[in-house]
Amino acid sequence: MNLNIKDTFSTELPADPILENSRRQMREACFSFVTPKKTSNPELIHVSPEMMEVLGISQEDLTGSEFLNVFTGNSVLPDTKPYAMCYGGHQFGNWAGQLGDGRAINLAEVEHKDQRWAIQLKGAGETPYSRTADGLAVLRSSVREYLCSEAMYHLGVPTTRALSLALTGDKVLRDILYNGNPAYEKGAVVSRVAPTFLRFGNFEILAAQQDFVTLKKLTDYTIKHFFSHLGKPSKETYLAFFNEVVDLNIEMVVHWQRIGFVHGVMNTDNMSILGLTIDYGPYGWLEGFDFGWTPNTTDRQYKRYKFGTQAEIIQWNLFKLANALYPLIEEASGLEEILRNYNRKYIIKYNEMMRSKLGLFKEDKDDTLLIKDLESVLHLTETDMSIFFRNLGKFNPAKAGEGTEIVKDAFYLPEELDEVIQKKWDKWFAAYAKRLKLETLSSDERKIKMDQINPKYVLRNYMAQLAIDAADKGDYSIIEELFELLKDPYSEQLDHEKWFVKRPEWARHKVGCSMLSCSS
Ligand code: AMP
Ligand code: MG
Repeated sequence: MNLNIKDTFSTELPADPILENSRRQMREACFSFVTPKKTSNPELIHVSPEMMEVLGISQEDLTGSEFLNVFTGNSVLPDTKPYAMCYGGHQFGNWAGQLGDGRAINLAEVEHKDQRWAIQLKGAGETPYSRTADGLAVLRSSVREYLCSEAMYHLGVPTTRALSLALTGDKVLRDILYNGNPAYEKGAVVSRVAPTFLRFGNFEILAAQQDFVTLKKLTDYTIKHFFSHLGKPSKETYLAFFNEVVDLNIEMVVHWQRIGFVHGVMNTDNMSILGLTIDYGPYGWLEGFDFGWTPNTTDRQYKRYKFGTQAEIIQWNLFKLANALYPLIEEASGLEEILRNYNRKYIIKYNEMMRSKLGLFKEDKDDTLLIKDLESVLHLTETDMSIFFRNLGKFNPAKAGEGTEIVKDAFYLPEELDEVIQKKWDKWFAAYAKRLKLETLSSDERKIKMDQINPKYVLRNYMAQLAIDAADKGDYSIIEELFELLKDPYSEQLDHEKWFVKRPEWARHKVGCSMLSCSS
């Protein structure tokens, strides 16, 4: 394997001088060198051909033992020094102090085709940031991260990527339901890839430690490598940088709302500085359109990270990032103004996105109302988000009365559509039909455009669970099938119609399908 290694993070930023792998609080450092744990019997389950190409890995490279050994942590690439990054974070609204890569280890940065990529192993053993945990990952959470990273990419959502999924051959003890019933599960490692894995928390920890010298080094590094068009570091540049991070995160969350993705743990340590979807834990996809839904059992009581508040939480997190950058700028007004503009910017983008889901490509003053009305009718009975919007593309404005018939497959309990609810739907479809008259596209053209925005196939929670259950028994065929299916989520794949259905009833309350724990 001939990777073009070009480390910048670990060569340009201050390292923790201690090389021992013991738990500790870091000072004046952005990372600690650490070697991945050896695994007893590693076995590759899947490799992403797209990511191989992105990184310059050939088919031949897969045949020897080097690939397997490197991407499960059993050997270290020549001339590299793996490391874990130091970060802090606000978890569920509270400052949690130092967190850091507790089970992620950066192998190296690779340059290929003028793009630089950092490669991480997730689940490769303890680091100085592992706190009380073991640094390992289980098969189920690794399958979920692997499939979802690549699915999100193909859906057009900014995301970290995944190169490989492997079993370690070791057992990992987990108490899935946190109810005192721990059990052994198969250990796994995902190698994941992104231009950088920097999070808001990397900046917050330095500000919290009042280490403004290292904070400046880290911010200058980030601008130099990822926002170089902003120019040389200055107070203005820092403000412009913050403004771009805001815009990137708005773009990301608008995509989440578009496809019905709920991240589940939007702590500031899980917020990428590049606005990438990062850390696929107890995430989930909406089945029924419900602003109140979260897949995360840990968040069941307050639902801080539910579908309907994701944009608000991004703003809250950006506020924390602004506080962390403030010592470099020493003037609050610029940061405050950027944060004040957040809502206005988000609403514009959100409405634009929702209009496009409805096939409305011109603007009309009543569109916001039409969207709001739709959102409230969608909440009246359990209505599958993906099926609803996909089938809406077939709506014929000349036959507005047939609206509910067109989308009927989206209703989980059609019998709940009583006279009152039916009337509300009819009213909405009539308004929608009237609004479509302002558009210039033909119905066919509109459908083509809507189909590029409303995915047909998403990684429904139960689909990932089916892949996991089979994989646990050594059958990786569903992983392969879903991986291929989700490469082309906007096209009709007639052989795969079975994945374009509502969540089956058995999955309604099954752990791993409708609810997920953080235990991973
Ligand atoms: P998460 O909620 O998964 O984003 O994790 C929050 C923090 O806990 C991060 O610093 C993780 O690195 C750390 N963490 C999560 N699981 C483990 C584990 N099994 N071993 C060590 N650290 C972990
Ligand atoms: Mg995390």
